Amino acid sequence: MPITKAEAARLVRRTGMKQAEFSVVNDGALTLLNSSDTRACVFLLTDTADMNGEGICSVYDIRPKGCQTYPYVLNHDDDAVVDEGCPHRESFESPGEEMATTLLNLEERILREGSSD
Ligand code: SF4
Repeated sequence: MPITKAEAARLVRRTGMKQAEFSVVNDGALTLLNSSDTRACVFLLTDTADMNGEGICSVYDIRPKGCQTYPYVLNHDDDAVVDEGCPHRESFESPGEEMATTLLNLEERILREGSSD
C-alpha cells in the first residue's frame, strides 16, 4: 500500500517503529511492507497467511488514506474500480468520478514525494 511521508511520520510517532521497519520505496513510492510470515501488511494482526483469513489493523485509527479508500483502486485508464484482488469485492458498489479524483490526487502526491528524494 503506497503512503505519504506525513502518514509514515504519523505511523513512526504512534507505533514507535522506525520507518524502515514498516515501509520501503517501491517504484518511486513509499510503500507499506508485508510480513514475511503472513505475507500481509506488517500492521495487520493475524496468524494466517490465508488471504481470506481474519485480521485486525493495529493502526486502524491512523491508517493511511489508501487503506481508507481500499478496495477502490485506479485501473490503467485512471478510472476508479473495485480491486479484483479483494475477496469481498461483491459487497462494494461501483465507485464514481469523485473516487477517481481522490485516488488520482493521492497517487500524484505520493509519486511527487518519491521523486523529490
Ligand atoms: S488497513 Fe492497516 S493492516 Fe491494512 S494495509 Fe492499511 S495499515 Fe496495513
